[in-house]
Amino acid sequence: MKTRGYAVTSAKAPLADFEFERRSLRPRDVALDIYYSGICHSDIHQAREEWGPAIFPMVPGHEIVGKVIEIGSQVSKFKVGELIGVGVFIDSCKNCASCGAGLEQYCVEGMTGTYNALERDGKTIAFGGYSDKFVIDEDYAVHVPSNLELSGVAPLMCAGVTLYSPLKNWNAGPGKKVGIMGLGGLGHMGVKFAHALGAQTTVFSHSPEKEADAKAMGADHFIVTKDIKELDKLKQSFDLILNTVSADLDLEPYLQMLKLDGTLVVIGLPGKPYAINAGTLLGQRRSLAGSMIGGMAELQQMLNFCGEHNIVSDVEVIKSDYINTAYDRTVASDVKYRFVIDAKTF
Ligand code: NAP
Ligand code: ZN
Repeated sequence: MKTRGYAVTSAKAPLADFEFERRSLRPRDVALDIYYSGICHSDIHQAREEWGPAIFPMVPGHEIVGKVIEIGSQVSKFKVGELIGVGVFIDSCKNCASCGAGLEQYCVEGMTGTYNALERDGKTIAFGGYSDKFVIDEDYAVHVPSNLELSGVAPLMCAGVTLYSPLKNWNAGPGKKVGIMGLGGLGHMGVKFAHALGAQTTVFSHSPEKEADAKAMGADHFIVTKDIKELDKLKQSFDLILNTVSADLDLEPYLQMLKLDGTLVVIGLPGKPYAINAGTLLGQRRSLAGSMIGGMAELQQMLNFCGEHNIVSDVEVIKSDYINTAYDRTVASDVKYRFVIDAKTF
């Protein structure tokens, strides 16, 4: 299937027009016209090889929403014309304990990423969502509620589920104090979900101008982290803190804000190891944890939750020729709050 998109050919090159073929449909495959594709900071980390050697040419993009245009002979989950979403992975082993538990993102053999990955045949490069068409095994796609603005749905496929999953796993809800570090693509979804789940929600941001937006999204408090001493006043007060910051930073003052048995979950992945003070952890039986996206069942659950609560991402819709500028603006924390590419412009 002829597909138009945008690709990067080396870590130092800008993204540019790229034409390629997607596979013809296998019996369990679904083909879609992509409507919108979000720009995740992980796209930038990988296109610029900040996580190590990458596979080029790379068509990034793992926040995909569109409409089904064709189905394979054995497809039972989707019909032509239905809305469909695709996220961060397109396959997994389907046999291990994680896959069996609906936690395909933690597949023991490794999930197959939507891009910067080889498909499970070990040789076909997986091309992602910065493109006008996609082909996917129906098991790795989800239904999109029809009441939501579609441009704001695309970022739910990664940013949304990546914050929804730890909030649910660590029981964010009424009576819980939750902190969200960084008000970017992931962080702003964290604020919306934590608020909707009934938790008292505090944003930690190094961008003072984002305060009004954070409060409009449901934050109860907004703390500017430029003066790190501000955090001293909040020692031992949080049940759960989610770190979505894409840059290196000292976790120590954030760990100190956890109360007895509190957990700080690392979600941002800047690349360098963290230095951790063991005394800070054991002093209040604190936990330092990590969380990666969400499984297929949880992705659908999160979208249904968004449909019920009318939650979407706040987006800036752009044309394909703006992607390189959007990358620079995202790195500068200058995005409100997710760039989403209009796939008609590929
Ligand atoms: P983003 O939109 O760029 O947001 C990151 C936010 O971090 C910025 O908006 C900014 O918030 C804060 N920040 C950036 N530079 C900073 C600095 N130098 N000092 C302090 N704060 C800074 O990125 P994103 O798409 O949300 O992704 C965030 C991170 O999560 C990335 O590393 C990405 O790779 C990772 N990620 C992880 C998963 C997972 O499954 N765990 C999934 C997707 C993405 P303020 O302006 O409010 O300070
Ligand atoms: Zn992502």
